[in-house]
Amino acid sequence: MDHLLNADLHCHSVFSDGTLAPEVLARRAQANGVGLWALTDHDEISGLDQALSSARAIGLPCLTGVEISVTFAGVTVHIVGLGFDHRHPPLIEGLRRTRAGREQRARDMGADLERAGIQGAFDGAMKYVDNPDLISRTHFARYIVEAGYCSDTHEVFRKYLAEGKPGYVPHRWASLGDAVGWINGAGGVAVIAHPARYALGINGEYALFSEFKAHGGLGVEVVTSAHSVPEVARYADMCREFGLLASRGSDFHCPQESRCDLGSLPDLPGSVTPIWAELRARVD
Ligand code: AMP
Ligand code: MN
Ligand code: MN
Ligand code: MN
Repeated sequence: MDHLLNADLHCHSVFSDGTLAPEVLARRAQANGVGLWALTDHDEISGLDQALSSARAIGLPCLTGVEISVTFAGVTVHIVGLGFDHRHPPLIEGLRRTRAGREQRARDMGADLERAGIQGAFDGAMKYVDNPDLISRTHFARYIVEAGYCSDTHEVFRKYLAEGKPGYVPHRWASLGDAVGWINGAGGVAVIAHPARYALGINGEYALFSEFKAHGGLGVEVVTSAHSVPEVARYADMCREFGLLASRGSDFHCPQESRCDLGSLPDLPGSVTPIWAELRARVD
């Protein structure tokens, strides 16, 4: 398992805001040449039994995964967990608490969007929700496109759902220490997801990496669909500076919406150590 392995360690199913079932994702990953796969639904691990059994049935190497929503310095940051015991009670309970505020947040979003001129957003978003525990901004975006207010989900985020826009409801997620602690406590490894996406500034980013490392975090997504070529180089440098391992994941959600398909990312740069060096023993 070297740095050229076609690993895809970040994607979403209908258990959060993806549109495909875990078994469909497993088949798609294999068809696209993925050699190591993880399903990482937002704050949710109920899809992992299906992911693991589907991957096993087709001989696709698979890890457990999750993407935990964290509030760090007032900014939402995502921490991916990989290769943990998905039956570990403190992890299950921590994720349950992290999901708990989503329904009220969604009701507040619906009311705010109504004031911004978008009718029926809560009920409309719910039509796209498969797992009632996990209503996300993505489900609202799909409804707002369907209702004709915007032409694609990216435009919805730009106009209505990004921070500071009329449908954005601030929310307090898990703490960084709790998220890394739940993952490590369940025997997994923690990874900072798509670091270029956070509006932390240079000092805030340095604080995130330092505190993540101090809490026992091990990895950073260097190659992800959210990163440009210079960003890949920048986070490869950050891995070396902080002594962190590099991960790779498409963040695939939906064939129609995602910029990048499963397994179709650039290779990891040769200068970093792949996180799968650490994960070998946990592959199913
Ligand atoms: P939530 O956890 O409910 O805040 O929703 C976060 C999800 O919204 C992310 O995981 C993405 O799937 C989606 N998202 C965030 N920003 C954008 C964007 N600019 N364009 C499209 N999807 C986005
Ligand atoms: Mn998402
Ligand atoms: Mn994310
Ligand atoms: Mn994601």
